[in-house]
Amino acid sequence: MFESLSERLDSAFKQLKGEGRISEINVATTVKEIRRALVDADVNFKIAKEFTDRVREKAMGEKVITAISPGQLMVKIVKDELAELMGNTEVELELKANPTVILIAGLQGSGKTTFSGKLANFLKTKKNKKPLLVAADIYRPAAIDQLKVLGGQIGVEVYSEPENKNAVQIAENAIKEAKAKGNNVVIIDTAGRLAVDEVMMTEVANVKAAVAPQEILFVVDSMTGQDAVNTAKAFNERLDFSGIVLTKLDGDTRGGAALTIKYTVQKPIKFVSMGEKLDTLDVFYPERMAQRILG
Ligand code: GDP
Repeated sequence: MFESLSERLDSAFKQLKGEGRISEINVATTVKEIRRALVDADVNFKIAKEFTDRVREKAMGEKVITAISPGQLMVKIVKDELAELMGNTEVELELKANPTVILIAGLQGSGKTTFSGKLANFLKTKKNKKPLLVAADIYRPAAIDQLKVLGGQIGVEVYSEPENKNAVQIAENAIKEAKAKGNNVVIIDTAGRLAVDEVMMTEVANVKAAVAPQEILFVVDSMTGQDAVNTAKAFNERLDFSGIVLTKLDGDTRGGAALTIKYTVQKPIKFVSMGEKLDTLDVFYPERMAQRILG
């Protein structure tokens, strides 16, 4: 599908055999290739440029060891730099509070409800927690049913109030219920819209103010490329979220949105989602993502 960055750089470096250090001339030709590879992987152009400027500085004067080609050395520099930018080590959820409240926000169709189910399953099976899923989408009755089906599949209770059109009340009542029933994690699946709008933002912000969640996870479809960045910015301005969930990485996107979002909002990517099956939730590994972006 794509020519990998290693292949591109190796051809850019063909003339270089025998030189001891990466020089300004080599860097100039390869930086262009790196930038193109990043843009092909959906990284925003401006960010790709800033990024390659950093790589250029790092690469200048690097000693080329005979064991690896200059192209491979550049790829290594790029990969390390990418991984560092994306966070370097995986960040765990903050789960000490009892109950821990986790608010899930994002656009409609981003994969919020599916992710809520995956997260509940992950917390139940891997972290030994007793989660409660909360259907706080008051606009789509089908969203309640969808969450109930997911809850049924993983054996996790789902709290809903089909007649109540007040998301804040539903969230508050759900937390009371969790305390009464001994659920130590409450996952609130909020309503999404097709685009960022004021009503949705106000509603999620009100839920946040009412329940003071320990974690606010912003769910974003990695296939939406550049648009994902504007959405992330808008949600972050209103919610100051604690982490990003990148969904649909099982698709054929290179995932450059991960880098752009991370760079723009400076929040950690806490999970990736690679499919509709409930056991496929994955912790985010920056190095794997860097590898994927570079191909
Ligand atoms: P919501 O509107 O944000 O709650 O989104 P949903 O959870 O309903 O997901 C929207 C669609 O995307 C559904 O058809 C899901 O099955 C699908 N979906 C969610 N997550 C993933 C994923 O990681 N990979 C793939 N391929 N599909 C996903």
